[in-house]
Amino acid sequence: MIRIEDLYKSYNNFHALKGINLHIAKGELFAYLGPNGAGKTTTIRILTGLARLTSGNAYLNGFHIEQEKRKAKEQSGVVPQLINLDQELTVFENLDIHGRLFQMRAKERGKKIHKLLGYVELDQRKDNLVKQLSGGMKRRLVIARALIHSPRILFLDEPTVGLDANIRRRIWALIKKIQQSGTTIFLTTHYIEEAEFLAERVAFLNEGRIVAIDTPQRLMSGQGTWAIDRVDDDDIKTVYFKAREEAKQFIAMQQESFTLRRVNLEDAFLALTGKKVK
Ligand code: ATP
Repeated sequence: MIRIEDLYKSYNNFHALKGINLHIAKGELFAYLGPNGAGKTTTIRILTGLARLTSGNAYLNGFHIEQEKRKAKEQSGVVPQLINLDQELTVFENLDIHGRLFQMRAKERGKKIHKLLGYVELDQRKDNLVKQLSGGMKRRLVIARALIHSPRILFLDEPTVGLDANIRRRIWALIKKIQQSGTTIFLTTHYIEEAEFLAERVAFLNEGRIVAIDTPQRLMSGQGTWAIDRVDDDDIKTVYFKAREEAKQFIAMQQESFTLRRVNLEDAFLALTGKKVK
């Protein structure tokens, strides 16, 4: 559904993307994980026609993003990092305007908006001004807006940034529901738990390059299963173990107290890049 071949993007002399290759299957929930500045938003902006690629090729559902721009754009909806709703219009009006942009007829728009508002649980808020909504509601509205033209692909650029843990989990449930309806999902995040919980495959992006790509389980398995963190001067050093018993024996032999935890994607990212995702 998404094919990226040797994609480069430069801003003057700065190389933001340095040869990205990716194939994402129909219906897959794929996470693009990397620290600030890794190139996540740049990739989405190129794939959704908001920025031009410097070299390489990319296709959405077989349509070249630059040579068949209009068709390619129709394949996807995007939830940008910054909420760009019209705050002075109602929930309904925000969706209606977006439907008009896709040349949907009034009857079709009305039906789709009704369905989407139920889907994202905003049906009681239809006539509220956007500025009266909470952050989580606004995020759900932006997701509904991205789905108005029934795209095959949904791009989510850090969809839960700035939301509290409860609201974040609600958005995760919504994302899973959208995938279960057959939509391919390309998600960028620097929340480890988000990628672990949602994604079937994860790419680690670091300084414009993909350094690893696999299932979360396989990415994590290289580090063992259990970890303990130790404060060492002003840094945290981590020791990894294959078995819980092994880790517990290690702890029993130490003077200080340690917290035992499961290995996560942050450990895998750190091992590959020497940096943390957050
Ligand atoms: P974040 O998690 O902070 O959103 P990101 O992984 O999405 O980061 P990008 O926004 O894609 O990263 O930026 C990648 C690099 O490209 C950064 O170093 C950024 O400063 C640079 N960059 C992005 N847009 C431009 C631009 N229009 N002009 C110059 N440099 C840019």
